[in-house]
Amino acid sequence: MLHKIELPAYDQNLERIVQIQQKIISFVCDPNTPLTPGRDVFKRVFNDQIGSWLYQWLQRKHKEKTFYQELCDLVAHLRQYSSLRAQLIDAFQNDIDFFSHLDDASFVFFFNTRLPKKVGQMIAPVMIAFYDYVVQAGFPPCIGTFDRKEFLKTFWNTNKNLGVCPACDSPKPDINECDVDHFLPKSLYPFLSVCASNLAPVCLVCNRSVKRSADPIDQAQSAPLTNTFHPFGKPALDAIKVAVNRNTKGGEYQIYLEEMTGGISRRVASLKRVYKLETRWLERLKAEIESIRKTIKSARKRLLREGMSANDIVDALLNMILEDYDHKIGVEHYYILRSSYARYALCDTEEFSSLVELLS
Ligand SMILES: [Zn+2]
Repeated sequence: MLHKIELPAYDQNLERIVQIQQKIISFVCDPNTPLTPGRDVFKRVFNDQIGSWLYQWLQRKHKEKTFYQELCDLVAHLRQYSSLRAQLIDAFQNDIDFFSHLDDASFVFFFNTRLPKKVGQMIAPVMIAFYDYVVQAGFPPCIGTFDRKEFLKTFWNTNKNLGVCPACDSPKPDINECDVDHFLPKSLYPFLSVCASNLAPVCLVCNRSVKRSADPIDQAQSAPLTNTFHPFGKPALDAIKVAVNRNTKGGEYQIYLEEMTGGISRRVASLKRVYKLETRWLERLKAEIESIRKTIKSARKRLLREGMSANDIVDALLNMILEDYDHKIGVEHYYILRSSYARYALCDTEEFSSLVELLS
C-alpha cells in the first residue's frame, strides 16, 4: 500500500474476536472436548453468554454442513491424529503475530507452509465467518457494540489527515463507498480474518476490481514479510519512485514504479502486480497534466507583467508543485502524479519546452 496509515486501537474490539477464535482452536484441540459438544459444554468453556451465543451461531449453514458440524469433524480428525493439535495451536499463534515480524526475514506463515492442508480446510471457514458474519454484520451484545461502520469511523478518525485512498491515491472514499481490505486475503490467510493489522479501508475499485484476493507476498520465496510493503508498518511511498516519461516528443506518457535507489525489487514487483497502478493511473495522469497546462496558461498575463520570462514562469510553477509535496501528499488526491510529472518536466528539455510554448 502506498500511504502511511496509523493503526487504530478499535478499543480492543477486534482483539476480543481474535481471542474467541483462539479459544475455539484450543477447544477443538483439547483431548477432553466431546465429539459432539452441547450448549452446556460451550457455556462452561466460553462463559454463559458467549458460549450460548457461539453454540447458536455455529448452527449457521456453510455449504452442505453447519459450522458446528465442521468443528465436530475437526475434533474427530484431531482425535485420530493427535500430533496435529499442537501444530494447529502453533500455526494460529504464529500467524496472528505476523505484524511484530515485519522486519524478520526468517518469518513464515504456518497456515500456508506447515499446517496440513486438510486441517487448514477444516478450520478456515469458521475463521473467515467471524469476519463475514460478526465484523460485517455487527457484534452480538455479549461481545460488544462494534461493526463494520464503527470500524471505518474509527479508522478515518485516527487517520484524519489522510485525504485519499491509501492504496491508489484516488479521492478518500466515503464510508458508504469504502471497503475493508484484508491486506493478506482472508481466503489465503484465514487466521488473519479479523486481525486489526491486516485490515485497511480502501476504495471500491482497489478492493473489488483490482486487488480482489491477490496475494501481496510470494509464499514460494524466502523472507516473505521483509519483501513486501505493508499498510501500517511499511508504506511504499517512503521507499519508491513514481516516475513519468514519454518515449518520444508527443508520444504516449508512461508511468513506472521502482525502488528509490532504482530497480524493481520483489516488493515493488508485488506492488505493481497487486494494484496495477501504472496502467490505472494513465488516464488520470493526462488530466493532471492538462490541469498543470491550464495553470501555466492562466498565470501568463500576470507573470509576464511582472517581467518574468516564459522559462522562469514554467520553472517556478513546476517547482512550486514539488515544494508543496510534503504537505499535499496523501491530502490532495493524485498529488503523486502531479509531482511526478513536475519532476519529469523539469528534467526533460523537450517536455519543458512544450510547456514554455504555451506562453508564446
Ligand atoms: Zn483505491
